[in-house]
Amino acid sequence: MIDINKIRNDFPILNTKVYGRQLVYLDNGATSQKPLQVISSVAEFYSTINSNIHRGVHYLSSKATEEYEKSREKVKTFINAKSSAEVIFTKGTTDSINLVAFSFGEKFISEGDEILVCETEHHSNIVPWQMLCERKRAKLIKIPVDNNTEIIMEEYEKLLSSKTKLVAVAQVSNAFGTIHSTEKIIEKAHKFGAKVLIDGAQSIQHFSTDVQKLDCDFYVFSGHKIYAETGIGVLFGKGELLSQMPPYQGGGDMINSVSFEKTEYAELPLKFEAGTSNYVGAYSLLKAIEYLENIGLKEIAEYETELKNYAFEKLSTIPGLEIIGNPKNNSGVISFTLKDIHFYDAGMILDKMGIAVRTGTHCAEPAMKRFNILGTIRVSFSFYNTKEEIDILYNGLLKVKQMFE
Ligand code: PLP
Repeated sequence: MIDINKIRNDFPILNTKVYGRQLVYLDNGATSQKPLQVISSVAEFYSTINSNIHRGVHYLSSKATEEYEKSREKVKTFINAKSSAEVIFTKGTTDSINLVAFSFGEKFISEGDEILVCETEHHSNIVPWQMLCERKRAKLIKIPVDNNTEIIMEEYEKLLSSKTKLVAVAQVSNAFGTIHSTEKIIEKAHKFGAKVLIDGAQSIQHFSTDVQKLDCDFYVFSGHKIYAETGIGVLFGKGELLSQMPPYQGGGDMINSVSFEKTEYAELPLKFEAGTSNYVGAYSLLKAIEYLENIGLKEIAEYETELKNYAFEKLSTIPGLEIIGNPKNNSGVISFTLKDIHFYDAGMILDKMGIAVRTGTHCAEPAMKRFNILGTIRVSFSFYNTKEEIDILYNGLLKVKQMFE
C-alpha cells in the first residue's frame, strides 16, 4: 500500500503555491519531480565524492567510479539485463535512439532496407530514423494504429518482410498512454530477422521492466522521467549486437589505446561512453531506482492504475470532453480535447488555478494528424498524485467550460 502522506513529504516541490493556489502537478509524462532522497544525494556527491571517473588512481576518483559502476549494476538488475556491459549511459532517450540510429545504422542498414515505426511515436523515435534513411537511402514506414490508438497487428504483419531491418516502438505512447503489445511486436519482427528497439521513456517509471522476457534488442529511457536528474539516460542493447556496432563518438574513455597509426576501442560498455559521462546523473539514477524499489514497482503500478481509472471515469462525465482513444491497456496518461475550446486556452486557465497539464502536440505531430486534431490536453500521473487532485482538475475543467459558454 502506498503511504501517500509520507510520499508527498519526500517531494518538496509539491508544496509550491502557483498564483496563490496549491500546485497540482499533472505533467509527469514530461518530467517527474524529484524526491529529497535524490536531491540530497546530488549535494552529498558533490560534497564528499566528486572526482572524474575512470581516470585517477586516487581515492575520490576510485570512489566516484565505484558509484558510477554501482549505478550501472543497479540499472542492469532493474531492467533484468544479462550483463552490466549491456547498459550504456547516455544523455536520455533521444540520445540513446540517436546512438542506435547512427551506430546500428552504420553497420546494418543499406540502400533499400526498411525501418518500421508506429505512427504515434514521439518525434525522438521518428526523426533519427528519418535521418538514417536519408543517409542510407533506406525507407521509413509507419505502422498504423486504429481509432483506439492501438497498433493494428494485421497491418503490422503485412509490413514485415526480409527487407525489414529494424522496428522501433514505444512501450507506452506519450501522446495517449496506450500500452502497445510489445512482446508480440518483437516476436513477429524476429521471425523476419529484424531487430527491435523499445522506447521505454513512458513505461520504465510505471511498471517493472524485463528486457530478457521482452526479448527486445534495444531498450531506451531517460533518467529525468524516473525521478532522477536530467541529462542521464540509458541504452540497453543485447551484448552480441552492441559488440558488432561501431562507436558513436570518439574521445576519452572509449579507447584502450591511441596512436596516430591505430586506435583500439574499449570493450563494452565504455566503447559507447566517450568523454566525461554524467556520473553525478548516474548516481542520482541509482538513488532514484533505490527510492522506487523501496516503495515497490507493483504498489506503484496498482496505485497509478487506480488513479488513472478514477480520472478516466470522472473526466468522461464532462460534456464535450473527448478522450482520444480507448485502448485496452493504458498507462499513466489521459489525452483529451474539449469541444470548441482550444487546448492552449484551457491549459492557461487551468494554470491560473495552479493545475499543471500538458497542452499541444506532445512532440508527436504525426499522432495528432492521425486523429485529425491540432493537439490535446494531456494529464499524466505519478504515485504522488491523489484523487483529491483529480477532483481539483475535474472542477477546473468545469470552470473552463463555464467561462467559454
Ligand atoms: N520518447 C517518448 C515516448 C517520450 O515521452 C519522450 C519524452 O517525452 C522522449 C522519447 C524523449 O525523451 P527525452 O527528451 O528525455 O530524450
